[in-house]
Amino acid sequence: MSERAPILVTGGAGFIGSAVCRHLIAAGERVVNVDALTYASNLNSLASIADAPAYAFEKADIRDGRAIGDIFKRHRPRAVMHLAAESHVDRSIDGPLTFVETNVTGTCVMLEAARAHWSALPAPQKDAFRFLHISTDEVFGSLGDTGAFNEDTSYDPSSPYSASKAASDHMVRAWGRTYGLPVLISNCSNNYGPFHFPEKLIPLMILNALEGKPLPVYGAGTNVRDWLYVEDHAAALATILTRGEPGRTYAVGGGAERANIDVVHAICDLLDTHRPGPSNTARRDLVRFVTDRPGHDARYAIDATRIRNELGWRPTVTFEEGLERTVLWYLANEAWWRPLREGVYAGQRLGVAKAG
Ligand code: NAD
Repeated sequence: MSERAPILVTGGAGFIGSAVCRHLIAAGERVVNVDALTYASNLNSLASIADAPAYAFEKADIRDGRAIGDIFKRHRPRAVMHLAAESHVDRSIDGPLTFVETNVTGTCVMLEAARAHWSALPAPQKDAFRFLHISTDEVFGSLGDTGAFNEDTSYDPSSPYSASKAASDHMVRAWGRTYGLPVLISNCSNNYGPFHFPEKLIPLMILNALEGKPLPVYGAGTNVRDWLYVEDHAAALATILTRGEPGRTYAVGGGAERANIDVVHAICDLLDTHRPGPSNTARRDLVRFVTDRPGHDARYAIDATRIRNELGWRPTVTFEEGLERTVLWYLANEAWWRPLREGVYAGQRLGVAKAG
């Protein structure tokens, strides 16, 4: 019997993509990870599966149609999980064009390569083929004090990052409606967990607090995010790929809304417990309120009723459990993060461009 065709994962050397690759390999799938290895990537996040016979790595840029077409021809995937993107809002404020090139043009290159491959497949494989586009709840803009985003929420992005992801969602839907490509879209809330590049709130605060450095909290720290443990997100994506209905969107969230300042305080308290500072000083004293991010969305929350009811997925890790696991992971894995802090990103402020 011939082997089952692989799943092509883009951005598999990033935070969520590496969790997806680890999840799929553990589930017995074959995986081809396509990643350009930008500053945000880390092949060390894949050390546990790098030698698995079911895992293959292809270094390629999703904007390079020839390289991507060649990868489809050689690996003949049965599905694509498209995660490769520029992902940091602050960097999109400093340099928006890379976000347009990778997130919009790169997604269209992936769609075209997938379409060429899919349209030449024999009927059973063609029917079973899926293109899952991994997107964010940030495409919906900002919520007030109440309510939650769902699959019917209008798009209203605020940052160059979220606008580029919104554009890519529209492209994916257009390839579905125009060419019949069996596409699925997921819009997920903020992820956290192990292997998270320390420019994002939670790992940055853990490492700064650990090193006794100031903890820069934007504005008054009142912005609310709905946090999801990354391994729960990987499981949600595998569920959508297997059981989702082509043409449909799925909103994914952890049901764990927290104000940023409360997240930072919780990290401080966990570190005070697990790695007490000199003379038992409280890490909360390191918090510094700094100028807000321009266009900073006030609140995100997800109504995940569709994926819960139609596909039977639900998060398995509470925010308190997940945050403690994450803090303990950073304490135990200095070899993973130390080179990043000393090399590609030392924690400096990004994205302070002024309006006007
Ligand atoms: P990340 O920045 O950690 O990883 C992105 C990966 O994509 C990196 O390995 C990078 O090398 C690769 N990449 C970037 N440009 C590329 C290019 N031109 N060609 C090939 N590879 C390229 O991002 P992440 O946080 O893991 O997010 C993954 C996806 O999930 C993104 O599409 C993001 O928009 C989406 N998402 C993220 C979150 C979150 O909280 N992090 C929430 C919802 C959705």
